[in-house]
Amino acid sequence: MDKNFQEQFTGSIKFTPPLYKQRYQFIKDLVGKYKPKKVADLGCADCTLLWMLKFCSCIEVLAGLDVCASVMKEKMHRLSPLPGDYLQPAERSLTVTLHHGSVAHKDPCMLGFDLVTCIELIEHLEQSELKKFPEVVFGFMAPSLVVISTPNSEFNPLLPGVTLFRHPDHKFEWDRAQFQSWALETARRYDYSVEFTGVGHPPTGMENVGFCTQIGVFVRKSPQTSESAQSEKPTEAAYKTVFKAVYPSLKDEKYLQNAVVSEVIFTAQIIKQSLMDCLVSEHKEYNDDPTERKCKFQPSMNCFSEDLGKLVVEKSMEPFVNGNVVYIPLITIFSFPKVNRLCGTFEKLRKLIAGKVTLSSDGSAVMFNTEHENK
Ligand code: SAH
Repeated sequence: MDKNFQEQFTGSIKFTPPLYKQRYQFIKDLVGKYKPKKVADLGCADCTLLWMLKFCSCIEVLAGLDVCASVMKEKMHRLSPLPGDYLQPAERSLTVTLHHGSVAHKDPCMLGFDLVTCIELIEHLEQSELKKFPEVVFGFMAPSLVVISTPNSEFNPLLPGVTLFRHPDHKFEWDRAQFQSWALETARRYDYSVEFTGVGHPPTGMENVGFCTQIGVFVRKSPQTSESAQSEKPTEAAYKTVFKAVYPSLKDEKYLQNAVVSEVIFTAQIIKQSLMDCLVSEHKEYNDDPTERKCKFQPSMNCFSEDLGKLVVEKSMEPFVNGNVVYIPLITIFSFPKVNRLCGTFEKLRKLIAGKVTLSSDGSAVMFNTEHENK
């Protein structure tokens, strides 16, 4: 695709990092600045930018669109959740969807996005598609932020081997004046402001040619009301969904329950272990000098690590042992920051672990049978 083709030609003008990475980094920086929740990449090709963006924790919805389904499918598996995502679900929700279709058509699945990126896309559009493009992106999708990048033809004489265009599929390549006049007119018509920048600095002494890739950053002037978002928007789908991944997230009750149950059992185990260690050491003391024995199988606070001890004291809820059974009060477990943060309220904790963790008959403590451990 474009990125390999351009690298081939920019061999003697070496961009470090490569130009396509600089373009993607530009988007990542913008995401860091504006923190959009919903991002769509139009002309996403092999989904490399989408793959990079899935690591941006502010993003909850990622969508890709390309007119070429086969290029999208090449590496789309990279957008699927990894085993680690299931083992430790993220707090945010994340859905990644790929659509097959053209930017010349409107589809309601592209509504509601905060940021729409069009990286090296417009120069691939036929005249008729380019004409429809502003109405689809700025008029219909109307995100608060649009980024459009395209080759700056003034840079071409510096690229060895480039006679007409940088890529055989390019339908045109604009100089800065052409791009800026198109962008300014588009921005004016759809009530956006636009600023121009770029990536790929020209060599020293050739600064007058401008960036190798020119970029327009469009910001919507008027806040979108729910009315303007809904008005005259078609409900008919024009794109075909070719991929969808819903990442495990703690926002989903099922994953939250798993996380809370694991954390409760883990926390209870730590408390229980401290208690058992304490009992063993006291038992040893007793054997060494029976007259010195301080407490009869009753754990004292110095059995616990400082933090743990503090929490237990604060809540004045000590775990206790009855025969082979250790009871760890639920309120103590709830005091632990991670459990607390996951559940929010004590009631929620009780609800999430109900039926999943063995509790005392009154439901106030986690129960552990230590029979095997004692042996
Ligand atoms: N954004 C990518 C790919 C750029 S190449 C990158 O930066 O590397 C342009 C991509 O736009 C190609 O994958 C091509 O299939 C796609 N494309 C061309 N015309 C399109 C159209 N009308 N609608 C959607 N995508 C289109």
